Amino acid sequence: MDVFEKLKILTDAAKYDAACTSSGANRKANKGGIGSAEACGICHSFAGDGRCISLLKILMTNVCIYDCKYCVNRVSNDTRRAAFTPRELADLTINFYKRNYIEGLFLSSSIIKNPDYTCENMIKTLRILRDEYNFSGYIHAKAIPGADSKLIDELGLLADRMSVNIELPSQKSLKLLAPDKSKNSILMPMNHIQNRIKENSKDIVVYKHAPKFVPAGQSTQMIVGATPDTDFQILNLAESLYSKFKLKRVFFSAYMPVVQNSLLPEIHTKPPLLREHRLYQADWLLRFYGFKASELLDDNNQSFNPYIDPKCNWALNHMELFPVDVNTASYKALLRVPGIGVNSAKRIITTRRAVKLDFSGLKKLGVVLKRAQYFITCSGKLSYGVKINEDSVLRSLMSDKTLDAFRNNLPAEAAPKQLSFFDNSLLLKEDIRKCLTGQM
Ligand code: SF4
Repeated sequence: MDVFEKLKILTDAAKYDAACTSSGANRKANKGGIGSAEACGICHSFAGDGRCISLLKILMTNVCIYDCKYCVNRVSNDTRRAAFTPRELADLTINFYKRNYIEGLFLSSSIIKNPDYTCENMIKTLRILRDEYNFSGYIHAKAIPGADSKLIDELGLLADRMSVNIELPSQKSLKLLAPDKSKNSILMPMNHIQNRIKENSKDIVVYKHAPKFVPAGQSTQMIVGATPDTDFQILNLAESLYSKFKLKRVFFSAYMPVVQNSLLPEIHTKPPLLREHRLYQADWLLRFYGFKASELLDDNNQSFNPYIDPKCNWALNHMELFPVDVNTASYKALLRVPGIGVNSAKRIITTRRAVKLDFSGLKKLGVVLKRAQYFITCSGKLSYGVKINEDSVLRSLMSDKTLDAFRNNLPAEAAPKQLSFFDNSLLLKEDIRKCLTGQM
């Protein structure tokens, strides 16, 4: 098989891994237009300074000894198999880099022969790139669960970022759908990487030229919707991964049916994209807004409201905490107001040291007044004409189209999906009534 064939097979096989910022979008250019997106091949990641980096996203091989039920590469699935040699993959990467197609590499692999052998092949590839070609570009490498910790160490000294996919949210689900994996075998390398990052940060202080170990940190990915695990379980798990292993990101991947198995949802099931979106919004709240998973969901309320984003949902459930006055409220309290993001909260704190803020001033600071006005006052005054009643709050939280969809009892999926943090979505009338009357 020639390298081009292998490239086609192994970029296509890598596209289901969501542990990067872009993947899976497929869009051809319109006639006369420019640009197109391919679901596989190149993905994107963001550097610490905000730069977008394009990466060749590829598997070393899709030959796998494991049988994860949801995976197109599982041993029992009849699919075309291919494997790169380390030399082939390193040459391919460097040639793409020289042609300016990519700025780095996202390297993963199925488990060929055993985890150690797989990891060794990845190390050989990165060694050729780093030592022979002197390649200093960004490399994201998957840590292979079950591989020897010495190999993980070696890989970590060659890569910028590593990730260990947690795959499914619970041990029970792993046992069901990925019987060759266990929570322990996944958490052990994660823990090891975290410990090595900690040690390395001390070494760097003492020895200026100490080699860096995974300088861009580690991340993980989990599949949402293939098993009955709830949003609450998933968010709790994400929270504990952030706190125990200091992960940079937890990526959620809406389950995409690509293979048939009696243990999986039907093959024609649509990926739960709205659910994935709500989880990303909640993840944002955990990382930047100081929320805890237990504030957003609880045992009696284990799933996110599909009609409204988690921050608005939380605010409506806690109307007793509002309105807050923008001229006196703490940074933490401002962050909890729908329509006030991290940047605008910081601007409010800085600006109010010099002047008293009013509603027109808030708009200039980037506050989304359409939402925020129901939850704030400026020097004790509500925004002119604002009435806090069901209809006005509902209108502030939804676009006309979604409100129509809601009123006509269309399912949540029928509402337009906007990938902004403060998107407009449907909201259950009953929820609003309960929130505003404090009955929740
Ligand atoms: S280990 Fe499981 S998820 Fe990974 S490639 Fe093999 S079958 Fe797929």
